[in-house]
Amino acid sequence: MKTHSAHFNPERQRQVLQALLKVLPANCVLHELEDTKPYECDGLAAYTELPMIVVLPEDEQQILATLGVCRELAVPIVPRGAGTGLSGGAMPTSDGIVLSTAKLKRIVQLDKNARTAIVQPGVRNLAISEAAAPLGLYYAPDPSSQIACTIGGNVSENSGGVHCLKYGLTLHNVLRVRIATIDGEMIELGSAALDAPGLDLMSVFIGSEGMLGIVTEVTVKLVPKPECAQVIMASFDDVITACNAVSDIIKAGIIPAGLEMMDQRSVHMVEPFVKAGYDLNAAAILLCESDGSETEVRDEIERMSRVLQQAGATAIAVSNSEAERLRFWSGRKNAFPAAGRISPDYYCMDGTIPRKKLAQVLQGIADLEIKHQLRCANVFHAGDGNLHPLILFDTNTPGELDRAEQFGTDILAMCVDVGGTITGEHGVGIEKINAMCLQFTSEENDAFFAVKRAFDPAGLLNPTKTIPTLHRCAEFGREHVHHGQQKFPDLPRF
Ligand SMILES: Cc1cc2nc3c(=O)[nH]c(=O)nc-3n(C[C@H](O)[C@H](O)[C@H](O)COP(=O)(O)OP(=O)(O)OC[C@H]3O[C@@H](n4cnc5c(N)ncnc54)[C@H](O)[C@@H]3O)c2cc1C
Repeated sequence: MKTHSAHFNPERQRQVLQALLKVLPANCVLHELEDTKPYECDGLAAYTELPMIVVLPEDEQQILATLGVCRELAVPIVPRGAGTGLSGGAMPTSDGIVLSTAKLKRIVQLDKNARTAIVQPGVRNLAISEAAAPLGLYYAPDPSSQIACTIGGNVSENSGGVHCLKYGLTLHNVLRVRIATIDGEMIELGSAALDAPGLDLMSVFIGSEGMLGIVTEVTVKLVPKPECAQVIMASFDDVITACNAVSDIIKAGIIPAGLEMMDQRSVHMVEPFVKAGYDLNAAAILLCESDGSETEVRDEIERMSRVLQQAGATAIAVSNSEAERLRFWSGRKNAFPAAGRISPDYYCMDGTIPRKKLAQVLQGIADLEIKHQLRCANVFHAGDGNLHPLILFDTNTPGELDRAEQFGTDILAMCVDVGGTITGEHGVGIEKINAMCLQFTSEENDAFFAVKRAFDPAGLLNPTKTIPTLHRCAEFGREHVHHGQQKFPDLPRF
């Protein structure tokens, strides 16, 4: 079994453990190797680190008590929901604790009239919709990991999903967030209404990747379950035509409930496993969903079918029952795990580009496959321009992990070059911290640090993640430090 890293200090562990056990029940604190091992990584499993201690608080008071000990002893804290994150955001530090919200999984209130739910941070995304179903309501943002990921994690990553094109990201579906600050205060951002007095700090907090505070409660919006939904599966004999069809749909004034693309490699890896009925001869398929009243859906499906035909679709199939609709989606929803059928390892990238650049960037990715001698499968939220290239590699083949990482960096650089961003919904974490140097100047990164310091002056919450230091960008070759002189020497750097 993997042991602690060279930085691990058993004396320090004893000291922190003793302090935590004074304020928490023993069953909320894990420190034995076999208990802490399951927390050594998140969904980015190539990066692992054993935490010094794992704390599983049962309520807000215990969260505040934990933060108090960490503040007092200067212990780094890595918050954690379900650990499904794909950018290493919940990866521990060897000298710190993991603060897991797994025990905080109560749905506090469902309000049919206000169409809201108040939930604790450890509630799973799908559990909200399941609880709201008897009221005819559901929570719209639907990450493919929704069966497992928590609302605390969704808030911290500003997660998206298939239906976010029409219904918005987490940010657009959350009304209020309750937070425990590192100073030991409870604060509330947002409100039960659509607006709140003062600066809109909730927008700053959502997507802040565990760096600004611990989410202890969230009020989410619920939306009525649509009367009906249908999905079109359209085949194309080349990827570029499929990409142009995506723009044509939006150009026609249609905002589908979902607009996803899978290239041939993705279809081939998922179809034998899921049997979704995908066209194995197509170079790419599009899944275009419509939801609403029966009349709205009938009308929208007709309009989308016309646009797709005019754009050059070689075949169009429309789901005729709810079972068939779910079958069409099942392939898309299972695409990531299906990569394991054709490759020992895969690296899921996440970048966003303007929709009109889809064809250019997919061609660029095909060129990078040749450059790096690695295969890549593309399955993504085409309507949002949010790419998820799955780079296929084998860690056991010397050099392949490095080549996969370089391939990923090249894709992100291309996203930035065409006016996009280095992340869509999976966050920066540790995975894309170097890529932050591609996107932002040192002044901009310093502004991000200034926001962090306002919430967390000592830099204890999820340190070393998300915002690169000047030093890191210099090492990455994206920061010019002249004779060791910083441009803004007065600005403190973590
Ligand atoms: C198969 C698969 C499919 C996925 N599909 C999607 C998708 O379609 N869309 C999408 O957006 N993402 C997707 N993801 C990524 C991931 O599921 C999301 O980022 C999700 O929001 C993470 O939630 P979590 O509870 O697992 O959080 P974790 O992974 O535990 O943590 C994520 C981040 O949030 C912080 N955090 C967690 N809880 C708290 C809290 N209470 N307070 C403060 N900070 C906290 C952590 O420190 C970390 O930085 C997918 C992942 C997998 C494995």
